[in-house]
Amino acid sequence: MREARRLERVPPYFFAEMDKIKASLRRNGVDLIDLGVGDPDSPTPEPVVRELCRQAPVPANHRYPAYEGSVELRQAICRYYMSRFGVKLDPEREAIGLIGSKEGLSHLVWAFVDPGDCVLVPDPAYPVYAVQTLLAGGSPYHMPLLQESDFLPDFDAIPRDVLSRAKLMFLNYPNNPTSAVCSLDFFRKAVEFAHEHGVLICHDAAYVEMSYDGFVAPSILQVDGASEVAVETYSWSKPFNMTGWRVGAMLGSVRAISALRIIKTNTDSGQFTAVQMAAVEALRAEPSAFITAMNVMYSKRRDVLIRGLQRAGLDPFVPQGTFYVWCPVPVGDDSTSFSALLLKEAHVIVAPGSAYGARGEGYVRFALTADEERLEEAASRIGSILASRMRDRARGETREQPRPY
Ligand SMILES: *Cc1c(COP(=O)(O)O)cnc(C)c1O
Repeated sequence: MREARRLERVPPYFFAEMDKIKASLRRNGVDLIDLGVGDPDSPTPEPVVRELCRQAPVPANHRYPAYEGSVELRQAICRYYMSRFGVKLDPEREAIGLIGSKEGLSHLVWAFVDPGDCVLVPDPAYPVYAVQTLLAGGSPYHMPLLQESDFLPDFDAIPRDVLSRAKLMFLNYPNNPTSAVCSLDFFRKAVEFAHEHGVLICHDAAYVEMSYDGFVAPSILQVDGASEVAVETYSWSKPFNMTGWRVGAMLGSVRAISALRIIKTNTDSGQFTAVQMAAVEALRAEPSAFITAMNVMYSKRRDVLIRGLQRAGLDPFVPQGTFYVWCPVPVGDDSTSFSALLLKEAHVIVAPGSAYGARGEGYVRFALTADEERLEEAASRIGSILASRMRDRARGETREQPRPY
């Protein structure tokens, strides 16, 4: 027996080591505060759960679902894009249902990337873009997202030989893991770039509903001419606390949607129709009220964590979008050593920035997936261990005993 060589291209699972330490601490009864994974801790809206219960017994839903997503789901998301973004889409040709947006992002790579092709991938980023590219035999070109450029890629810095081989570019704003947001003007530049270089843009809009301080995140499809060169994935997971349900949609370019449909009809047979009907209900039952309430909750949590981390001597970015706090590590630490310190000494789980790419080095990511009290507790534990480390170091220095840290 021999596994496919393409598996050798997959980098080791970065949370594996952390998971082992986590499990052993839990076994010892340690009170861990898990801010590592971006998985909402609140329940799905009640009307959505009720709709699933109503649809689950319907025999018509027990048969194979439509490959491209149910008509109702495609119509509902297109209606929603009109009301939320003023974007007009054809549910027949410009929309396809997904088994979660991760599925669509992955299969889009297989629909566009041949061996040797380049894919423009932000660094740091959600790992799926680069890993699927490698599996498909393509090469990811990492576009640095730098603090001094507000975590936006510089299209002019992409080398010519990369441009000539580039088929696809991934973007994601509000951004995981940096929590940066972008303006519609940035999307205009991206669309112009795509037209000029014949590249398909896939904008991952997983966090488009999660924004604060009056900021409203745009869709790339709001740009004139975007639907000729771009698709966008919409996900129910984060805004409606539906990560376990596995439902999303891809919208935009007719050619990209048809190409994806070919991969999907030969790979999966769609999501359970009852789940899709429940997703329709999420968009019908006053989504803005639910989304606003969730955003108010996350913004309060954000403020509590930011204040606490500042008191601990850290200098986190204040996010206007996503439910993450991106925070530079103290001088002398790196992403991994600092995450390990927080795990072992403060019993707080965070994601090391380096897990999202080389440019994530020097940062950690906190997910706002615990209540205010627990976030306060996490920050105060971090404050104590940093203060005691400082005292240890000061003592070490007065005794003039250089020690490695
Ligand atoms: C969570 C997340 C997703 C996955 O969304 P699903 O619809 O649950 O598959 C996609 N992209 C980013 C950037 C995410 O953080």
